[in-house]
Amino acid sequence: VDQALPHIAKISPYIPGKPVSELQRELGLSRVTKLASNENPLGVSAKVEQAAKLALKTLGRYPDGNAFYLRAAIAEFTCRTMPEVMVGNGSNELLEFVGRVFAGPGDEVIFSQYAFAVYAITAQIIGATPIQVTAKAYGHDLDAMAAAITSKTKLIYLANPNNPTGSFFSADALTAFMQKVPANVVVVYDEAYLEYVERDDAPSGLALLDQYPNVIVTRTFSKAYGLAALRVGYLLAHPDIVNLLNRIRAPFNVNELSQVCAVAALADQDFVAASVALNKQERSKVITALTHMGYTPLPSEGNFVCVNMGPEAASINQQLLQLGVIVRPVANYGMADFLRISIGTEAENQHLITALAQVK
Ligand code: PMP
Repeated sequence: VDQALPHIAKISPYIPGKPVSELQRELGLSRVTKLASNENPLGVSAKVEQAAKLALKTLGRYPDGNAFYLRAAIAEFTCRTMPEVMVGNGSNELLEFVGRVFAGPGDEVIFSQYAFAVYAITAQIIGATPIQVTAKAYGHDLDAMAAAITSKTKLIYLANPNNPTGSFFSADALTAFMQKVPANVVVVYDEAYLEYVERDDAPSGLALLDQYPNVIVTRTFSKAYGLAALRVGYLLAHPDIVNLLNRIRAPFNVNELSQVCAVAALADQDFVAASVALNKQERSKVITALTHMGYTPLPSEGNFVCVNMGPEAASINQQLLQLGVIVRPVANYGMADFLRISIGTEAENQHLITALAQVK
């Protein structure tokens, strides 16, 4: 252990949401509601279930290492070409690939305070210098991020909407930002929660690609498509970038079941629309309930809300666990007074609200 590289040894690992089975084991509770990982409370579409059953017959074989059908489906869906599409074991894997290809020791990687934790972790893994730019109203301060660019900057991560805060920036703000980014700096535009955005001033990651060959757009099947367990994400970028990224990709990084199910999920946009509609309806109910209880939720464009509960947040989290409700503490983001709560089904949200009413 003493021989481990120091920059690796000092990384604080990513803390995932507590699994339902773990809480059931610990407390012997029969009813557990997990609102901790921004998953799709509707599960998966029936079409995905059918596709999964068929795929079970071919599990004895390696998957298509080039994910032809999945990349073709993504290219068609996004109106891009196949050489611009790469798939990953979750978009997480792709975020890390980009870091590994474009930055290393001595280089600077810029991201916002309170931005998705994987950006900072990736910067540390690759031995680059993480530059965390102070947030504005818990969201990206794009002016300050542009001002933080130096000759050492190689990579910038942007999340829109951002997790865990739910913050959002407009197309105009992004355009103004991009005009200040030198062409030799790679910008990752992470659209993990794209489908949930309701505002009409939202940027289009796809439009950015045409204008800026240094932009990489990442998306995921883990949220609105309901495939979190299968770990599938994709990125869209200039073919030369995709070509570079492919050099460090492990063979067969996206397994067969995941490829087949992601194709089926993409083809079922009705399911995505239903998931988004449920989120819209339930998110406003949860925000109203939290506000009535005296808590302060941040505005959110995602399938979750980050809520200021004051100094009692950690205690409230513990009490919720005892009542069978798993939410996400965000103290590791420097937000000790907040809990992040994913939006569930009507019954799940009711469980949360009833449990919160019992908290002392
Ligand atoms: N980006 C953001 C902003 C996220 O919140 C997440 C998941 N929590 C991811 C990327 C990664 O998602 P996945 O690896 O499941 O595609």
